[in-house]
Amino acid sequence: MAKVNRFVSDDFTIRIAAVDATEVVKEMQKLHNAFPLATSGVGKAMVGALLLASQLKDKQQVGLLFRGNGALKSIYAEADYEGHVRAYTPNPQYQPPSYEGGLKLAEALGHGTLTVARHQPFQKQPFNGTVEIVSGEIGEDIAHYLHQSHQIRSIVALGIYIDQLGKVVKAGGVIIEVMPGVDEAVVERLQKNADHLKPSVSKILRDGGEPIDLVKPYMEGIPFSQVEHDHEVKYHCPCDEDRVIAALEILGEADLQDMIDKSEEPEIICQMCGKPYHFNVEQVSEIRERVHRNSLH
Ligand SMILES: [Zn+2]
Repeated sequence: MAKVNRFVSDDFTIRIAAVDATEVVKEMQKLHNAFPLATSGVGKAMVGALLLASQLKDKQQVGLLFRGNGALKSIYAEADYEGHVRAYTPNPQYQPPSYEGGLKLAEALGHGTLTVARHQPFQKQPFNGTVEIVSGEIGEDIAHYLHQSHQIRSIVALGIYIDQLGKVVKAGGVIIEVMPGVDEAVVERLQKNADHLKPSVSKILRDGGEPIDLVKPYMEGIPFSQVEHDHEVKYHCPCDEDRVIAALEILGEADLQDMIDKSEEPEIICQMCGKPYHFNVEQVSEIRERVHRNSLH
């Protein structure tokens, strides 16, 4: 059972999360029939969201929205503290002119912004922070966001390994956050470890490594221990008919009446999980009635 593993340095100034998210990224690839480039981008965003969400509290969630002027247009991934994750991209079958030199995510995403939204239960407005996309490789962008919006220095290493047939073999990542008040000698050690050992997430997971094996090379010489976080990572979409009806209501009375006149029976497919919602004319009429009634208040 895959879980986001959490750790903390013994002096409590470094917090760490690491995950092998292979199964959920495979599921996303299947669901969206995503080609390698989109799989890599969306997969990394999913891993990043899972890692960030694991550092929140019960029922809290985090959404990452990358919006660029490149062919992929946008990548969205959302995860909560309990390990639920879902994701979406409008152009999952995008193929670059060539795969030479690997998957060039930065080119496909282009210039733009990363918006991070944190939702808490019983709170209507999420906390939002937006930064420029600096690398387009997802991990560095998350680190840039943490620094700009929360003054937290971090290492965010994400890896998606895709085989010759374009299928996900391994996916995971590690985030190491340095808290204020840290001993600078510890930060130097961390940086030195990263520079010398150059740990590769994909390689460690391919060699059969566990989440803790993603952490060890960075933390060499810095004592740390595991923190309880016992939630299974799952692809989960909380969509339901009420939410789809709410989306239909936004269309407004005139558009709904138009559907009724043409006897259209809309089938709305959730973009996040592919679940279809079918409405017959009678149901559309009911929705139109309700929109009308609400407009009278
Ligand atoms: Zn859904």
